[in-house]
Amino acid sequence: MKGVMNLATIVQKYGGTSVGTIDKIKAVAKKVIERKKEGNDIVVVVSAMGKTTDKLIDMAKQISDNPNKREMDMLISTGEQVTIALLSMVFQESGYDSVSLTGFQAGIKTGGVHTKNRIFDIEIQNVENHLKDGKIVVVAGFQGMNENGDITTLGRGGSDTTAVALAAKLNCTCEIYTDVDGIYGVDPRVWPNAKKLDYISYEEMMEMASLGAGVMETRAVEIGCKYKIPIYVASTHGNTKRNLYKGV
Ligand code: ASP
Ligand code: MG
Repeated sequence: MKGVMNLATIVQKYGGTSVGTIDKIKAVAKKVIERKKEGNDIVVVVSAMGKTTDKLIDMAKQISDNPNKREMDMLISTGEQVTIALLSMVFQESGYDSVSLTGFQAGIKTGGVHTKNRIFDIEIQNVENHLKDGKIVVVAGFQGMNENGDITTLGRGGSDTTAVALAAKLNCTCEIYTDVDGIYGVDPRVWPNAKKLDYISYEEMMEMASLGAGVMETRAVEIGCKYKIPIYVASTHGNTKRNLYKGV
């Protein structure tokens, strides 16, 4: 999946809590703009606002115990599309050229079972062309398109995978912004003296993810490992700069 090396390109991902309100979306835009001003080309991947995905699933459950999975993908992929449009508008309102792209428009090709699809390739030209034009490219996480041209989703928490896969294709760094301020060896809520790690290997991170550490989605770490993509994890709203996780 490797593309041409471009050190100035960064993929940033902001999760649902980080974009939960319009004010929070504006705060995210500010952070992105800081990095853009440093001269970086930026792709921003976002999740659905707050608990949107849960609410959408809940609506479907009011209709059926076992809703059709193609229709589920059609439904739950809408959450991310709200966020990309709003965030892109904030950039434009702040004087920055920007474009929002659905998974399909970003070239994300997937396969497998609906609601649990896997990315098998990304046709990156569209994203690259927009970056070349100087735009901040805002991509809907969690979604893609299968060989039938149907919208698919990547499983809960799948926006991490979108971000790392895009970084792999662009051969650049991936920054995951979330509501924790880094990665700890043990749960800091249970062990108050827990130390934040400066870095962690992909293997350890995968093990933690599979144990349900809740920081990053397992599949995303796998892709990072396979393509040796540096991943940083940091708090969205703290001022600590990119304080974590460089896989070795
Ligand atoms: N919105 C999706 C979810 O809630 C994807 C994500 O947040 O990464 O699972
Ligand atoms: Mg999430």
